[in-house]
Amino acid sequence: MSEKLLFEGKLEGIFDTHAHIYDDKYESQGLSAQDILVNARDAGISRILIPGDSVASSQKALEYVHEFSGKFGVELYSSCGVHPHEAKDYDSNASEYIIDCLSSVGDKVRALGEIGLDYHYDLSPRDVQREVFTKQLEIARELEVPIILHEREATGDCLEIIKKFFSRGSSKISGVCHCCSCSLEATKDLLSMGFFLGFDGPITYKNNKKSFEVISYCPLDRIVVETDSPYLTPEPNRGKINEPSMVPFVVATIAGIKNISLEDTCKITASNGCTLFGID
Ligand SMILES: [Zn+2]
Repeated sequence: MSEKLLFEGKLEGIFDTHAHIYDDKYESQGLSAQDILVNARDAGISRILIPGDSVASSQKALEYVHEFSGKFGVELYSSCGVHPHEAKDYDSNASEYIIDCLSSVGDKVRALGEIGLDYHYDLSPRDVQREVFTKQLEIARELEVPIILHEREATGDCLEIIKKFFSRGSSKISGVCHCCSCSLEATKDLLSMGFFLGFDGPITYKNNKKSFEVISYCPLDRIVVETDSPYLTPEPNRGKINEPSMVPFVVATIAGIKNISLEDTCKITASNGCTLFGID
């Protein structure tokens, strides 16, 4: 931690709505769950949602919630779902696990995700990705839980599929476009279907004109902040492992674009995260 720059200024009440704090990379860098959570607390983070991306990681995320929530001053929540990278391994056991998890521990497991399409890496065949995404959206609709959407270089297909589920303004489910990198046009579609937009480290990179445009357009009550740690480390810590304690750099970038105070940005984005995930 010592070699990383901390955000200067005292912030509080931040909700990091997307952090894979169970990732093996932490252990290889000698960072324990306690280290990560204490660093987060000291940086003003009071809530973290730990997303799953496979059955195994969804189980791990929930274990973290059971073991560590509230222990170091940070409330933890999780999600469960099968990421497009893992879509080829989706089977009836996976769908049973997801349904069971969302129905039995719904107070801890607040969303279905990460789900979606990734045509950048194509780690599962595209037709399989689309099928598995659709199947999980059916579960979300049935159980009325929000989704965490992962979309990369697949905006057209992604929108086509979700439009069947999110009829404008009348849907009972909502969700977040995690690490939003969509065009302004696609963003408008997502917002009209009730989606929130999640922003991460890349918005702090120089010359990120697209994010500037999207954040400027996006209503303040639809923005949530994320780290996607251990990945996507914000400036000025690029090249180092990301942690929830780095999310204030994302908060500050949004505050700057929206021209509002840091305190209000913390408060509003945290309250949006609670609305999104149904947290009181
Ligand atoms: Zn993620």
